[in-house]
Amino acid sequence: MSDHLAPNSLLAKLDTQPRVRDFLARAVASGRASHAYLFLGSPGSGKLDAAWALAQALLCAEEAIPGACAACDDCVRVARRTHPDVHYYAPESATGYLIAQTRDLLEDVALSPIRAKRKVYIIDRAEQLRANTANALLKTLEEPPESVTFILLGTSSDVMLPTIVSRCQCVPFRPLSTDESTTAVARATGLPPARCRMAVAVAGSPARAVGFLKSADRQAARRAMVRAVDALAHADEADILASAKELMGAIHAPLAEVKSTQQAVLEQNQDYLSRGALKQLEDRNKRELNARERSGIMEALASVRSLLRDVLIRLEDAQDAPVNDDVRDVVERIASDTTTTGVTLALDAVSLAETRIARNVTPQLAIEVMLFDIRKALKCP
Ligand SMILES: [Zn+2]
Repeated sequence: MSDHLAPNSLLAKLDTQPRVRDFLARAVASGRASHAYLFLGSPGSGKLDAAWALAQALLCAEEAIPGACAACDDCVRVARRTHPDVHYYAPESATGYLIAQTRDLLEDVALSPIRAKRKVYIIDRAEQLRANTANALLKTLEEPPESVTFILLGTSSDVMLPTIVSRCQCVPFRPLSTDESTTAVARATGLPPARCRMAVAVAGSPARAVGFLKSADRQAARRAMVRAVDALAHADEADILASAKELMGAIHAPLAEVKSTQQAVLEQNQDYLSRGALKQLEDRNKRELNARERSGIMEALASVRSLLRDVLIRLEDAQDAPVNDDVRDVVERIASDTTTTGVTLALDAVSLAETRIARNVTPQLAIEVMLFDIRKALKCP
């Protein structure tokens, strides 16, 4: 089946999950795709990549090509994650999805597609749909409008509401080892395995790692994070505040391109879209920017966590290969100045920052506090 897919389509690139790829390609080609899928698998197994790949195959304007042509306007927009008919949702509060989010989603479902023949809703971390937010969704999940596909993502059906699971077609994803992910990224990019391994650690899944390696801005944000931690040993309060600010600037840099694409799409559509549809587009843009900002922050936190793990490996003389090969000098410097206890406490500070951001503490504040905590932790005897 994979032989028939356009090589540049997102589905074809799903080679770490060949069963899922073939299953989805067949479903789309036969015109019998389900109206609600539940992708189940551990973090990093590529569920979100698969969701975008399925969205592309469903929206592609080129009917004659199985999967997606990867060349039509709809395909290109989905690949850039700027298609106005693909809606991505993630929980907006620490306790899960907000009632306002599901309400917004349901209002949106009722509207017709803006430019493609279908609309796709990707609902990330669907285990965080609690009874109060999920009930409104159940009826729509059972009988969605003809032109709507839901793709829910979750880690395991055990932690999800059974009423949701039973309304979706479940697609299991196998867990990927770091080596498998690294090999997949190396194959896709042609870059040395050490770089690919670092990218997987920072970005989380093979496809996101490929995107990371193609983005100078995202790599610059990781370097800014490494620099900030490297400088902590000799940093005073003002230095830390300045580097947190610089870091936020670096995290926001990749958003500029997203914003200008969004603005262009809005201007193209301004004249012929109804006010309701324009509002829908603007809301979608806002959500997209929030999601991108959040994933940038998570990448920055993953960068510091990965760096600190290397320091720990170095201090413990463990056999594991270091991940941040390109900044070995930084790992050495930090290791020479701290202890195993210090690094362990510093890793706790990273987790705490993650929790704070999930609880809606502003990212800049959470990162400032994290840098202060790491500085203190690394000085632990
Ligand atoms: Zn296409």
